[in-house]
Amino acid sequence: MTASVVLFTSDLRLHDHPPLRAASAGGRQVVPLFVRDRGVTDAGFAVPNRLAFLSDCLRDLDAGLRERGGRLVVRCGDVVEEVCAVAAAAGAGEVHMAADVSGYAQLRERRLRRALEADGRRLHVHDTVTTVLAPGALTPAASDHFAVFTPYFRHWSVQRVRDPLGAPRVVQVPDGIASEGLPFRAALSGVSPETAAGGETAGRKRLTAWLRSGLAGYADRHDDLAGDATSRLSPHLHFGTLSPVELVHRARKAGGPGAEAFVRQLAWRDFHRQVLAARPAAAVTDYRTRRDRWRSERTARADIEAWREGRTGFPVIDAAMRQLRHEGWMHNRGRLLTASFLTKTLYVDWRVGARHFLELLVDGDLANNQLNWQWVAGTGTDTRPNRVLNPVAQGRRHDPDGAYVRRWVPELAGVAGAAVHEPWKLRDRAGISGYPDRVVDLADGLARFRQARSLE
Ligand SMILES: Cc1cc2nc3c(=O)[nH]c(=O)nc-3n(C[C@H](O)[C@H](O)[C@H](O)COP(=O)(O)OP(=O)(O)OC[C@H]3O[C@@H](n4cnc5c(N)ncnc54)[C@H](O)[C@@H]3O)c2cc1C
Repeated sequence: MTASVVLFTSDLRLHDHPPLRAASAGGRQVVPLFVRDRGVTDAGFAVPNRLAFLSDCLRDLDAGLRERGGRLVVRCGDVVEEVCAVAAAAGAGEVHMAADVSGYAQLRERRLRRALEADGRRLHVHDTVTTVLAPGALTPAASDHFAVFTPYFRHWSVQRVRDPLGAPRVVQVPDGIASEGLPFRAALSGVSPETAAGGETAGRKRLTAWLRSGLAGYADRHDDLAGDATSRLSPHLHFGTLSPVELVHRARKAGGPGAEAFVRQLAWRDFHRQVLAARPAAAVTDYRTRRDRWRSERTARADIEAWREGRTGFPVIDAAMRQLRHEGWMHNRGRLLTASFLTKTLYVDWRVGARHFLELLVDGDLANNQLNWQWVAGTGTDTRPNRVLNPVAQGRRHDPDGAYVRRWVPELAGVAGAAVHEPWKLRDRAGISGYPDRVVDLADGLARFRQARSLE
């Protein structure tokens, strides 16, 4: 048995790829394999925006492999059956893949290991491919994971981060392994008009541009909604077209407060992953219950619909929700505000919002999405679970000139300056016809929330 299989999942790249490096050590042949997994589709996770980005990623990965003498093998079906079939066809003794954290990924790993071992083959699972540190690498004295970010980060930031690996020069793939055709985005319908381009090549270009001209100002500008001054690397981190280990090294090499703030955000990503790895149920159930009795989806239907459509009457909320629909991406400050508005001001279950985000976000990611939603809802790891963000004050603070609102809410394009955040106060409202009235009075929303959480 000379060949090995590398199963690509959320690590669709050639640079800094430990499974590929290990599998091809000593010039061994490898089968680079991606399975369009029926389990992921059945779970509703394969939505148009992410499929579009994924199609770009697979095409780019295949092109990169071909430049090196290889190719990507794509199969569709049950991931375990397909990996076993490919391993048998290649006469492979080993399968290499990246560790992952969700309940589904953990089950996949167990099923795969059992099935391969029954055939006399071995599964090698590599850490620090999709995270900087392995989930479980850091634990507090009395628990299997950190439940609060600050102490986690204190430990995280002093750990040694392994050196990134270069891309392989040559990849030799055995003949005769059948592959399905590669998907392409043009065949998909329902994709948001301005989703980012996927693939490692696009990711590396964006990273280079970010290090050159974005990173230095990140600490000061990351909350500036109109400035759009964050990296927008999240889809590349989600699909693994960029390595978080490489990002940490390159940011630290650049140095300065911007780099420090950026690396801290990457630690947040690791933090949520170590929570989900230890508590996979946190994707669907409260991490820390506050005994909420959320308004039912039926009672709150009109409010939920207005929130989804960006028609709540609160300009910064509507701008962010429309950005999400148009780009399949939303600024972090927008995510915080829209999630706080839904869960606290409208008192709607965080799962309703998380589901909507996952339907549209190109970077839609179980760990980051569900645990950030829980953080905002106060059922997660926030140590101030009852804070409520005021969309008017926040709009004035993070979009002081109102440019972000005017960009996304054309009904308000004629309103100058920060007045755009409170259109109900305008003397002359003739110019803003078509913009909806507020779905809720903020004071009423706050009172309902405080009562529900017994804070009165
Ligand atoms: C309600 C809600 C839902 C979210 N859903 C997702 C999601 O599905 N997928 C996702 O990747 N991020 C999610 N985030 C986190 C964050 O908003 C995005 O990662 C960020 O906006 C992506 O933009 P960027 O790449 O420009 O980020 P930058 O500010 O440039 O940060 C760099 C990277 O750090 C990581 N990061 C930044 N902020 C966070 C955070 N709060 N938690 C974890 N990692 C972070 C991301 O990987 C990001 O790409 C969510 C946040 C909230 C409040």
